[in-house]
Amino acid sequence: MVAIALNETLPAVAPAPAVLARMVGVGKVYGTGETAVTALADATLDIRAGEVTLIEGPSGSGKTTLISILGLLLRATSGQVWLDGRDAARLGERELPALRARHFGFVFQGFNLFPALTATENVAIAIQMKDARMSTRKATDEARRLLDLVGLGPRAHHLPADLSGGQKQRVAIARALGGNPPILVGDEPTAALDTKTALSVMELLRDLASNAGRAVVVVTHDPRLEKFADRVIRVEDGRIDLATAPGATP
Ligand code: ADP
Ligand code: MG
Repeated sequence: MVAIALNETLPAVAPAPAVLARMVGVGKVYGTGETAVTALADATLDIRAGEVTLIEGPSGSGKTTLISILGLLLRATSGQVWLDGRDAARLGERELPALRARHFGFVFQGFNLFPALTATENVAIAIQMKDARMSTRKATDEARRLLDLVGLGPRAHHLPADLSGGQKQRVAIARALGGNPPILVGDEPTAALDTKTALSVMELLRDLASNAGRAVVVVTHDPRLEKFADRVIRVEDGRIDLATAPGATP
């Protein structure tokens, strides 16, 4: 067969991971005139499938600004943010939410769960917000599947108040996985957790990258998370430390 003959001629090299997002020369200035603050300058970065990227740096160095622009939560003042072959910086306000929902899931330090909703309901409502046409029944089934995936199946019917910090963050990760976005972005997602729990949450994120092909981008202050990362990018005073090789293979 032709297909087999072709395959036999291919070199035995693993394919390069797909670039899911690319930031090129991104800058952000908050405010104008005398009060202007340059929070980010000339940030260039590739985000690849299957990779865990940690973003480290002192408080106020521009980490949240960087990942917020990547995740289309915030507009850059300069530069480009490429997704699906399009520069999101050039898209109108009406086009951004759908692009954001399709590409990104977000996890924050503070979990941000609805206190009156069970774990399943918290995840299901997020799924329906991404896909308004999905029935509640189907969204609930999908929420249960995602809660199983993050190891929370047995606690799916609990309210956030009855869950530990680590369990709440797992619910938030399940919620971020709703709609199956290829990129997970976390802003200090382990900062409110004790060490053991923080490591287990990071292990889960690592697993989602390695076994589900997602790109995981996590801002952290915690160097103990480095062992789970393919690369660590340092941000200092709004600049990516070039020695930490933005966009380069680890
Ligand atoms: P990090 O997440 O590393 O702590 P941020 O990205 O939040 O840093 O902030 C980077 C810089 O931008 C800081 O000097 C901060 O004070 C400033 N900044 C952040 N958000 C705003 C805002 N909405 N308006 C004005 N300045 C801001
Ligand atoms: Mg921050």
